[in-house]
Amino acid sequence: MSTALVPRAVRLGPQEEQLRAEVRAFVAEELAAGTFRPRSDSWLTGWDEAFSRRLGERGWLGMTVPRAYGGHDRTALERYVVTEELLAAGAPVAAHWIADRQTAPALLHFGTEALKTRYLPGIAAGTCFFAIGLSEPDAGSDLAAVRTRAVRAEGGWRLTGTKVWTSGAHHAHAFAVLARSSPAEGRDRKSGLSQFVVDLRSPGVTIRPIRLINGAHHFNEVVLDDVFVPDEMVLGVIGQGWNQATSELAFERSGPERYLSTFPLLTALVGALADAGTGRAELGRLVSRVWTVRRLSISVAAALDRGEVPEVAAALVKDLGTRLEQEIIDAARLLVDARPDPGATDGLPRLLADAVLMSPGFTLRGGTNEILRGVVARAMGMR
Ligand SMILES: Cc1cc2nc3c(=O)[nH]c(=O)nc-3n(C[C@H](O)[C@H](O)[C@H](O)COP(=O)(O)OP(=O)(O)OC[C@H]3O[C@@H](n4cnc5c(N)ncnc54)[C@H](O)[C@@H]3O)c2cc1C
Repeated sequence: MSTALVPRAVRLGPQEEQLRAEVRAFVAEELAAGTFRPRSDSWLTGWDEAFSRRLGERGWLGMTVPRAYGGHDRTALERYVVTEELLAAGAPVAAHWIADRQTAPALLHFGTEALKTRYLPGIAAGTCFFAIGLSEPDAGSDLAAVRTRAVRAEGGWRLTGTKVWTSGAHHAHAFAVLARSSPAEGRDRKSGLSQFVVDLRSPGVTIRPIRLINGAHHFNEVVLDDVFVPDEMVLGVIGQGWNQATSELAFERSGPERYLSTFPLLTALVGALADAGTGRAELGRLVSRVWTVRRLSISVAAALDRGEVPEVAAALVKDLGTRLEQEIIDAARLLVDARPDPGATDGLPRLLADAVLMSPGFTLRGGTNEILRGVVARAMGMR
């Protein structure tokens, strides 16, 4: 395994560029047909199951999943190209995002055969959607403080507790829950935690909306009241939940969604300033930073392909990328005379409104940037 903090740089080859051209052509067709309007933060807010199915039909979901489970045996770099094209266009990818990005790799690494055959084909087809069940009212950054309990029962486990900020749970089929299955051993709070795949339609599951300030419904509180989870839905090894859940984070933190959430806004900004002849230096600075974070993010995807766990580089992508996403919003507000308008049918005012609404979450979701700097500092021997 590489000991470097940052994996070596890679370049995309002709195979990836050919694929990019295919995705770009598809996106252009969809835009021409009016099936979607570009939006900021489309991977959280653009829930469109029909769009996900069309991607599944083209083989652009579950790309790194083996064919035996309905996938396509392709590389993480090929998947990267598809996701960056879709995000750059502001396409509605939220429905399949979590399932495709992190549930599929987690099932492949840790899932029972029953879990893999039950869920992977649907994930690759764009018909099966997942949520993430980590955070709780008193456990966010301090994830080891989760209080959801898993108690042994005949043929499985019974789960009781409350998860919060569960994006998309009101639409998703299932979520992976981190729960305490035995008391911590001494002061090691990370011991005794386990992961379970919970069907969100199970008896005992209550899903309540947590609305954004504009009334939009993306988040939920999910209450588990003595929910039965059969043994074959245990994800990985009982007691190893901490290591498993944190190993998923390299997938969660390093992808193009960590610097492209406001790319459609940046594109609109370039268009708005093209004739004005102002703001070029600022735009140049932003674009060159996007390019730099992108190179780091691609090198992480290649490292994941090689079986490495590049958690430091993944943390850097998220910290640098999400702050850049927010600065793109600041630049748009300073450089053009446009008010954010959520009611606008299209263009910069609506992209700006979407981005302003979602931007506080950019540096929080997936582990806050402060926590990620701690990860980097520890790897550098500074703490
Ligand atoms: C848009 C969005 C989507 C989300 N989706 C999901 C989801 O689907 N599933 C899910 O499980 N969770 C989800 N979350 C929750 C997210 O993971 C948590 O918000 C995050 O882990 C922070 O936890 P918290 O909100 O409890 O904040 P806290 O942990 O209470 O942190 C509050 C503040 O204190 C700082 N802080 C805390 N500890 C330290 C420390 N040790 N050192 C320095 N600073 C510290 C933090 O950086 C932060 O600024 C989502 C969040 C957002 C914003």
